[in-house]
Amino acid sequence: SRQFTRPLNDLANQFNTLLSAVAGAERVFDILDEEKERDNQASIRLSKVIGQVEFQQVSFSYGDDQQTITDVSFQVMPGETIALVGPTGAGKTTIINLLARFYEPDSGLITVDGHDVTNIKRDNLRSKMGFVLQDSYLFQGSIKENIRYGKLDATDEEVQRAADMANAHSFIMKLPNQYDTVLKQDGSGISQGQKQLLSIARAMLSNPSILILDEATSNIDTITEMRIQEAMQRLMKGRTSFVIAHRLNTIQKADQILVLDNGKLIEKGTHDILLKNKGFYYGLFHSQIKQESS
Ligand code: ADP
Repeated sequence: SRQFTRPLNDLANQFNTLLSAVAGAERVFDILDEEKERDNQASIRLSKVIGQVEFQQVSFSYGDDQQTITDVSFQVMPGETIALVGPTGAGKTTIINLLARFYEPDSGLITVDGHDVTNIKRDNLRSKMGFVLQDSYLFQGSIKENIRYGKLDATDEEVQRAADMANAHSFIMKLPNQYDTVLKQDGSGISQGQKQLLSIARAMLSNPSILILDEATSNIDTITEMRIQEAMQRLMKGRTSFVIAHRLNTIQKADQILVLDNGKLIEKGTHDILLKNKGFYYGLFHSQIKQESS
């Protein structure tokens, strides 16, 4: 389907830029640390985050004349799963970019556990967040190093446990050098789905309070797809999860669906409530069903 299928471009690009610029994982943190200096003096560090998130009348423009996000408000309780749906260009990725402080709102307030995110140090905020994106940001290095990037001091046992939880262990063990298999810069040598499993393993290891997931849309066989779905469910358990959702199954299970169109939050609620409302979501849902069965 078209309307559910845009990758988390901006966010993925931010990571790819960081990763392609460096030789090893530690350097990435140096670069993120440099950003700290742009934080204001009042910045705080949170030691523990439970994952309560709120947007209060947030508006944002990328700097051109066009308003990208207009007056968006929503509240998320810790552990909830939030599906972001809407046509391409609706602003789903931008919502995430704002939450992770890749950009700052022009007006309105975004809070995590009641703290204005612009007061939370960027590296601290992002260390509480895990990202599983369509374009997995893997770097040239071993499988082990790529997973360990989620927690630099993790032991081999922790790395393996995370891979196991992510349904990645079995395919890794079939590779010529198993956990020491070196991935090329372009990620060739393993499949798209296997890359996703690795990024799930990495997120599992980093144990974030807030998860950002961009569901894969293509080039993944049914069995790997099932493994990914299962691993993602495991990963999301007990964490506040924002899903750029392409699968009806995920959307139907979400605690809240935020329906965006043209930068505005036009509907929010559960699948059942939104269907009953017979509004925009109802239309999206029925066109999606038609496409999936045709
Ligand atoms: P979605 O994720 O729902 O497809 P996006 O949040 O990516 O939507 O995009 C919302 C709007 O913002 C689109 O019109 C898009 O072209 C624009 N946009 C996205 N990223 C940028 C950027 N870095 N600079 C300028 N405009 C952007």
